[in-house]
Amino acid sequence: MDKMPVLFIGHGSPMNAIEDNAITQQWKMLGKAIPRPKAILSISAHWYTGGSFVQDLEQPEQIYDMYGFPAQLYEVKYPVSGSPVLSRRVKELLGLAVSVDNSWGIDHGTWSVLVHLYPACDIPVVQLSINDNLTPQEYFAMGQALQPLRNEGILILGSGNIVHNLSMIDWNNAGGFSWADDFDKWVQKCIVEKDLDRFFQYTKQPHAWQAVPTSEHLAPLFYCLGAVQDSKYNLRIINDVRVLGSMSMTSYMFEN
Ligand code: ZN
Repeated sequence: MDKMPVLFIGHGSPMNAIEDNAITQQWKMLGKAIPRPKAILSISAHWYTGGSFVQDLEQPEQIYDMYGFPAQLYEVKYPVSGSPVLSRRVKELLGLAVSVDNSWGIDHGTWSVLVHLYPACDIPVVQLSINDNLTPQEYFAMGQALQPLRNEGILILGSGNIVHNLSMIDWNNAGGFSWADDFDKWVQKCIVEKDLDRFFQYTKQPHAWQAVPTSEHLAPLFYCLGAVQDSKYNLRIINDVRVLGSMSMTSYMFEN
Protein backbone atom coordinates (compact mmCIF):
# COMPACT_ATOMS: atom_id res chain seq x y z
CA MET A 1 0.00 0.00 0.00
CA ASP A 2 1.22 3.49 -0.81
CA LYS A 3 2.44 5.51 2.09
CA MET A 4 -0.05 8.32 2.53
CA PRO A 5 1.01 11.96 2.43
CA VAL A 6 0.36 14.23 5.39
CA LEU A 7 -1.71 17.36 4.88
CA PHE A 8 -1.78 20.61 6.78
CA ILE A 9 -4.61 22.77 5.50
CA GLY A 10 -5.12 26.43 6.33
CA HIS A 11 -8.93 26.43 6.58
CA GLY A 12 -9.65 30.15 7.11
CA SER A 13 -13.23 31.34 7.21
CA PRO A 14 -15.94 28.68 7.60
CA MET A 15 -17.53 30.30 4.52
CA ASN A 16 -15.01 28.39 2.44
CA ALA A 17 -17.30 25.39 2.95
CA ILE A 18 -19.86 26.94 0.59
CA GLU A 19 -17.62 29.05 -1.61
CA ASP A 20 -16.08 28.18 -4.93
CA ASN A 21 -12.88 30.22 -4.93
CA ALA A 22 -9.18 29.87 -5.71
CA ILE A 23 -8.56 28.33 -2.29
CA THR A 24 -11.32 25.73 -2.40
CA GLN A 25 -10.45 24.82 -5.98
CA GLN A 26 -7.00 23.82 -4.75
CA TRP A 27 -8.60 21.65 -2.06
CA LYS A 28 -10.74 19.96 -4.72
CA MET A 29 -7.69 19.22 -6.83
CA LEU A 30 -5.80 17.83 -3.85
CA GLY A 31 -8.57 15.37 -3.09
CA LYS A 32 -8.22 14.02 -6.61
CA ALA A 33 -4.41 14.05 -6.66
CA ILE A 34 -3.58 12.03 -3.56
CA PRO A 35 -4.15 8.29 -3.10
CA ARG A 36 -7.60 7.54 -1.81
CA PRO A 37 -7.34 7.02 1.98
CA LYS A 38 -9.08 4.25 3.90
CA ALA A 39 -9.91 6.75 6.62
CA ILE A 40 -8.89 10.22 7.80
CA LEU A 41 -7.48 11.22 11.16
CA SER A 42 -8.31 14.90 11.49
CA ILE A 43 -6.56 17.14 13.98
CA SER A 44 -8.65 20.30 13.98
CA ALA A 45 -7.81 23.59 15.67
CA HIS A 46 -11.40 23.70 16.86
CA TRP A 47 -11.14 20.77 19.25
CA TYR A 48 -8.73 22.23 21.78
CA THR A 49 -8.89 20.43 25.07
CA GLY A 50 -7.17 19.95 28.42
CA GLY A 51 -5.85 16.51 27.45
CA SER A 52 -5.76 14.40 24.29
CA PHE A 53 -9.01 12.83 23.21
CA VAL A 54 -10.10 10.68 20.32
CA GLN A 55 -13.59 9.95 19.04
CA ASP A 56 -14.75 6.39 18.49
CA LEU A 57 -18.38 6.48 17.34
CA GLU A 58 -19.60 4.65 14.24
CA GLN A 59 -21.63 7.73 13.35
CA PRO A 60 -20.16 10.91 14.83
CA GLU A 61 -22.34 13.99 14.77
CA GLN A 62 -21.49 16.94 12.57
CA ILE A 63 -21.33 20.08 14.69
CA TYR A 64 -21.77 23.72 13.69
CA ASP A 65 -19.25 25.25 16.05
CA MET A 66 -19.27 28.75 14.56
CA TYR A 67 -21.56 31.69 15.17
CA GLY A 68 -23.03 34.55 13.20
CA PHE A 69 -22.70 33.18 9.69
CA PRO A 70 -25.41 33.01 6.97
CA ALA A 71 -28.05 30.30 7.40
CA GLN A 72 -26.80 28.55 4.28
CA LEU A 73 -23.64 27.53 6.12
CA TYR A 74 -25.64 25.72 8.82
CA GLU A 75 -27.35 23.69 6.12
CA VAL A 76 -24.13 22.11 4.88
CA LYS A 77 -24.40 18.39 5.56
CA TYR A 78 -21.37 16.19 5.85
CA PRO A 79 -22.74 13.06 7.51
CA VAL A 80 -19.51 11.13 7.51
CA SER A 81 -18.98 7.78 9.26
CA GLY A 82 -16.48 7.28 12.01
CA SER A 83 -13.97 4.45 12.12
CA PRO A 84 -13.81 2.59 15.44
CA VAL A 85 -10.96 0.57 13.91
CA LEU A 86 -8.91 3.72 13.39
CA SER A 87 -9.87 4.99 16.86
CA ARG A 88 -8.54 1.76 18.39
CA ARG A 89 -5.35 2.07 16.40
CA VAL A 90 -4.83 5.67 17.61
CA LYS A 91 -5.29 4.45 21.19
CA GLU A 92 -2.73 1.69 20.59
CA LEU A 93 -0.21 4.14 19.17
CA LEU A 94 -0.69 6.89 21.75
CA GLY A 95 -1.33 4.67 24.76
CA LEU A 96 -2.20 6.40 28.00
CA ALA A 97 -1.63 9.82 26.43
CA VAL A 98 -5.11 9.67 24.87
CA SER A 99 -8.61 8.76 26.02
CA VAL A 100 -11.94 8.40 24.27
CA ASP A 101 -14.35 11.33 24.29
CA ASN A 102 -17.45 11.56 22.12
CA SER A 103 -18.79 14.83 23.53
CA TRP A 104 -17.49 16.75 20.50
CA GLY A 105 -18.26 15.91 16.88
CA ILE A 106 -17.00 16.52 13.37
CA ASP A 107 -16.33 20.26 13.62
CA HIS A 108 -16.13 22.92 10.93
CA GLY A 109 -12.32 22.80 10.93
CA THR A 110 -12.77 19.31 9.50
CA TRP A 111 -15.92 19.45 7.40
CA SER A 112 -15.39 22.87 5.78
CA VAL A 113 -12.28 21.37 4.16
CA LEU A 114 -13.52 17.81 3.55
CA VAL A 115 -16.62 18.96 1.66
CA HIS A 116 -14.13 20.00 -1.02
CA LEU A 117 -11.46 17.30 -0.63
CA TYR A 118 -13.96 14.44 -0.52
CA PRO A 119 -17.37 15.76 -1.56
CA ALA A 120 -18.82 12.24 -1.74
CA CYS A 121 -18.47 12.01 2.05
CA ASP A 122 -17.53 8.35 1.73
CA ILE A 123 -14.25 8.21 3.66
CA PRO A 124 -14.58 7.64 7.43
CA VAL A 125 -13.26 10.38 9.71
CA VAL A 126 -11.99 10.32 13.28
CA GLN A 127 -10.97 13.48 15.13
CA LEU A 128 -8.10 13.70 17.58
CA SER A 129 -8.18 16.73 19.87
CA ILE A 130 -5.33 19.16 20.39
CA ASN A 131 -3.99 19.01 23.90
CA ASP A 132 -3.67 22.60 25.12
CA ASN A 133 -1.05 21.61 27.72
CA LEU A 134 1.62 20.54 25.27
CA THR A 135 4.64 22.28 23.73
CA PRO A 136 5.40 22.24 19.98
CA GLN A 137 7.98 19.50 20.63
CA GLU A 138 5.34 17.42 22.39
CA TYR A 139 2.86 17.88 19.52
CA PHE A 140 5.63 16.78 17.19
CA ALA A 141 6.30 13.68 19.34
CA MET A 142 2.61 12.80 19.23
CA GLY A 143 2.68 13.11 15.45
CA GLN A 144 5.72 10.81 15.38
CA ALA A 145 3.79 8.19 17.31
CA LEU A 146 1.01 8.37 14.71
CA GLN A 147 3.39 7.95 11.79
CA PRO A 148 2.67 4.20 11.25
CA LEU A 149 -0.89 5.10 10.22
CA ARG A 150 0.48 6.43 6.97
CA ASN A 151 1.47 2.90 5.94
CA GLU A 152 -2.04 1.72 6.73
CA GLY A 153 -3.87 3.95 4.26
CA ILE A 154 -4.74 6.66 6.77
CA LEU A 155 -4.61 10.31 5.79
CA ILE A 156 -3.43 12.52 8.64
CA LEU A 157 -5.04 15.93 8.18
CA GLY A 158 -4.07 18.91 10.30
CA SER A 159 -6.59 21.74 9.92
CA GLY A 160 -5.73 25.18 11.27
CA ASN A 161 -4.03 28.38 10.11
CA ILE A 162 -0.42 29.49 10.48
CA VAL A 163 -1.36 33.16 10.94
CA HIS A 164 -4.70 33.50 12.70
CA ASN A 165 -5.68 36.66 14.55
CA LEU A 166 -9.44 37.20 14.53
CA SER A 167 -9.24 40.42 16.56
CA MET A 168 -7.23 42.06 13.78
CA ILE A 169 -9.30 40.86 10.80
CA ASP A 170 -9.61 43.59 8.18
CA TRP A 171 -12.54 42.87 5.87
CA ASN A 172 -11.26 45.43 3.36
CA ASN A 173 -7.86 43.80 3.03
CA ALA A 174 -7.67 41.20 0.27
CA GLY A 175 -4.11 40.29 1.27
CA GLY A 176 -2.15 40.28 4.48
CA PHE A 177 -0.61 42.86 6.78
CA SER A 178 3.16 42.96 6.34
CA TRP A 179 3.71 41.25 9.70
CA ALA A 180 1.36 38.44 8.61
CA ASP A 181 3.28 37.99 5.37
CA ASP A 182 6.57 38.05 7.25
CA PHE A 183 5.57 35.47 9.83
CA ASP A 184 4.06 33.13 7.24
CA LYS A 185 7.20 33.40 5.11
CA TRP A 186 9.41 32.76 8.11
CA VAL A 187 7.48 29.56 8.90
CA GLN A 188 7.76 28.54 5.26
CA LYS A 189 11.52 29.05 5.34
CA CYS A 190 11.81 26.84 8.45
CA ILE A 191 9.80 24.13 6.73
CA VAL A 192 11.59 24.37 3.39
CA GLU A 193 14.97 24.33 5.12
CA LYS A 194 13.74 21.59 7.48
CA ASP A 195 14.87 23.65 10.44
CA LEU A 196 12.27 22.46 12.89
CA ASP A 197 14.23 23.35 16.01
CA ARG A 198 14.05 26.93 14.88
CA PHE A 199 10.34 26.66 14.14
CA PHE A 200 9.64 25.23 17.60
CA GLN A 201 10.96 28.55 18.98
CA TYR A 202 8.44 30.58 16.96
CA THR A 203 7.38 32.68 19.94
CA LYS A 204 10.75 34.43 19.68
CA GLN A 205 9.82 35.86 16.28
CA PRO A 206 9.07 39.58 16.41
CA HIS A 207 5.48 39.27 15.16
CA ALA A 208 4.57 35.96 16.74
CA TRP A 209 2.34 37.65 19.31
CA GLN A 210 0.23 39.12 16.47
CA ALA A 211 0.36 36.13 14.14
CA VAL A 212 -0.26 33.46 16.78
CA PRO A 213 -2.09 35.14 19.68
CA THR A 214 -3.27 31.67 20.73
CA SER A 215 -1.64 28.49 19.51
CA GLU A 216 -4.59 26.23 18.61
CA HIS A 217 -4.60 27.06 14.88
CA LEU A 218 -0.85 26.56 14.51
CA ALA A 219 -0.64 23.39 16.63
CA PRO A 220 -1.94 20.96 13.95
CA LEU A 221 1.13 21.76 11.85
CA PHE A 222 3.45 20.42 14.57
CA TYR A 223 1.52 17.14 14.69
CA CYS A 224 1.79 16.93 10.89
CA LEU A 225 5.54 17.53 10.94
CA GLY A 226 5.91 14.77 13.51
CA ALA A 227 3.92 12.38 11.34
CA VAL A 228 6.33 13.13 8.49
CA GLN A 229 9.18 12.31 10.83
CA ASP A 230 11.87 11.76 8.29
CA SER A 231 13.60 15.03 7.48
CA LYS A 232 13.82 14.02 3.82
CA TYR A 233 10.30 15.04 2.91
CA ASN A 234 9.06 16.36 -0.37
CA LEU A 235 6.99 19.43 0.05
CA ARG A 236 4.11 20.86 -1.89
CA ILE A 237 3.05 24.36 -0.88
CA ILE A 238 -0.59 25.14 -1.55
CA ASN A 239 -2.58 28.38 -1.24
CA ASP A 240 0.44 30.47 -0.29
CA VAL A 241 -1.63 33.60 0.44
CA ARG A 242 -2.72 35.83 3.29
CA VAL A 243 -6.31 37.06 3.46
CA LEU A 244 -8.31 39.57 5.53
CA GLY A 245 -5.06 41.04 6.81
CA SER A 246 -4.42 38.69 9.67
CA MET A 247 -4.99 35.17 8.35
CA SER A 248 -2.80 32.95 6.22
CA MET A 249 -4.21 30.18 4.06
CA THR A 250 -0.84 28.56 3.41
CA SER A 251 -1.08 24.79 3.35
CA TYR A 252 1.46 22.02 3.04
CA MET A 253 1.48 18.51 1.69
CA PHE A 254 4.35 16.35 2.89
CA GLU A 255 5.42 13.17 1.16
CA ASN A 256 8.26 10.80 1.91
ZN1 ZN B 1 -10.54 27.91 12.47
